[in-house]
Amino acid sequence: MGRLGAKVKSCVSGNLLTFLTLVATVGGTVFGLALRASRDGDWTNREIMYVAYPGEIFLQMLKGLILPLIVSSIVAAIGSLDLSLSGRIGLRAILYYAATTVTAVLTGIFLTAVIRPGEGGTAGMAVNSTRKTTTADTLLDLVRSMFPPNLVQACVAQYQTVLIEPTPEEYEEAAAAGKNLTLTDWEVSGRFVSGSNTLGLVIFSVAMGITLAKMGAEARPLIDFFDSLNAAMLTMTGWVIWISPIGVFFLIGSKIIAMESVSVMAGQLGWYFMTVVMGLFIHGAIMTPLYFAVICRKLPFRYMYNMAEAATTAFGTGSSNACLPVTMKCVEEKNKVDLRISKFVLPIGATINMDGTALYEAVAAIFIAQLRRVPLGVGKYLAVSLTATMASIGAAGIPQAGLVTMVMVLDTVGLPADDVSIILAVDWLLDRLRTTVNVTGDALVAGIVDHLSRGELDEVDRRTVAEGALRRPSSLRPAPGSTAAMIELAPVGQDEASVGLLGKN
Ligand code: ASP
Repeated sequence: MGRLGAKVKSCVSGNLLTFLTLVATVGGTVFGLALRASRDGDWTNREIMYVAYPGEIFLQMLKGLILPLIVSSIVAAIGSLDLSLSGRIGLRAILYYAATTVTAVLTGIFLTAVIRPGEGGTAGMAVNSTRKTTTADTLLDLVRSMFPPNLVQACVAQYQTVLIEPTPEEYEEAAAAGKNLTLTDWEVSGRFVSGSNTLGLVIFSVAMGITLAKMGAEARPLIDFFDSLNAAMLTMTGWVIWISPIGVFFLIGSKIIAMESVSVMAGQLGWYFMTVVMGLFIHGAIMTPLYFAVICRKLPFRYMYNMAEAATTAFGTGSSNACLPVTMKCVEEKNKVDLRISKFVLPIGATINMDGTALYEAVAAIFIAQLRRVPLGVGKYLAVSLTATMASIGAAGIPQAGLVTMVMVLDTVGLPADDVSIILAVDWLLDRLRTTVNVTGDALVAGIVDHLSRGELDEVDRRTVAEGALRRPSSLRPAPGSTAAMIELAPVGQDEASVGLLGKN
């Protein structure tokens, strides 16, 4: 088959999958609504589990790829870059991740302050018991998880501070002594809960990548190992991706059957829901694309369209981590972002950059404060923006993780952790929407960093070729036809001037 034929084939197959995943999202919703209506919503948990089953298997396949993918991508990408360059790329990514997250939080705060969704509400809503910790504990846990004591354990468990409530006698004793026991007086303890510590693994991989880059030729075998592992993970992702329409269809369908009656959306909760959705829309469809357009001097529509598959997978799974393999495929293969950028920046983004989550945390905390009639001054709003940002960094990229770190934001406005139960009924749907914004945000920042680092990366390629040094490892090779590929394919020893000409297009 000629080049044109191959191009046509790849275009059709790429768009076919996007189309199928979009159809699956709508189809899954209709399917869920139809099943719901057929029995007036009277479905048992077992029946819902059967409907969700194909989706669950798809999710497990994606999850199985995450850890080796994250570790191998980061180590191979940083390990094969010049350290000062990877430092600059990393700094750029962190800067734009921070900028977009702060914009998201401000948008959320502004909308909640203007719409006031919790105003005039009754505060006597359901209260369940949740984990009780202080803001300090949550922050300390966040830093603790950055440095896992045992890497194998970090793949399956994460440390969590647990505060032990005093006994009734201790309360009485304290009261007799004129002391009121608060959370900070509870005994501090901790435990490992199941779920991988992705943040710890990301930090370790960055450190490992830096070490390998420093070691030079001696590190070659290890870089080649991670590089080859990475290429294998991406090939497997390519297979799993073809199941995504089926997975998304059943994941969404089963969620629709299981959701509570739509009547919970009436009143205050409905206003809260609308405020978050509006905020997510403004941030995800206007603000971040605007950043992209201004910085890259390019309309963001094509880039956004190319991310459709990742966006629908994020919506279907509610997990930016599970979606990472798909995000990487879209960013690398469709948006042609340099692989050294995407492999470095995206796994970090999926772990720490959650614009949608930050926005939602801010809106939810202020909404609950309005509902509870807790007055908020400028200082409190500032504290909310700070803790919402931290809470979004601390939230794991798994379904409804934002609810857990929300405790921190509630604590800042002086509300009990139990109050998260007020927003539980609509959280599953908001979770999916905010995950979609989290994932597209990561992708757009990868595009921005790629644009800003292009010159430097091309320069590295030119130097490498001119010096006749080792070429890039296989999983980091540029897409055929790109500028970088032309530079890399230039005969070794070609003089800089002519390579420079080749690089211009
Ligand atoms: N589910 C979100 C994610 O994976 C995190 C959250 O907001 O709960 O990105």
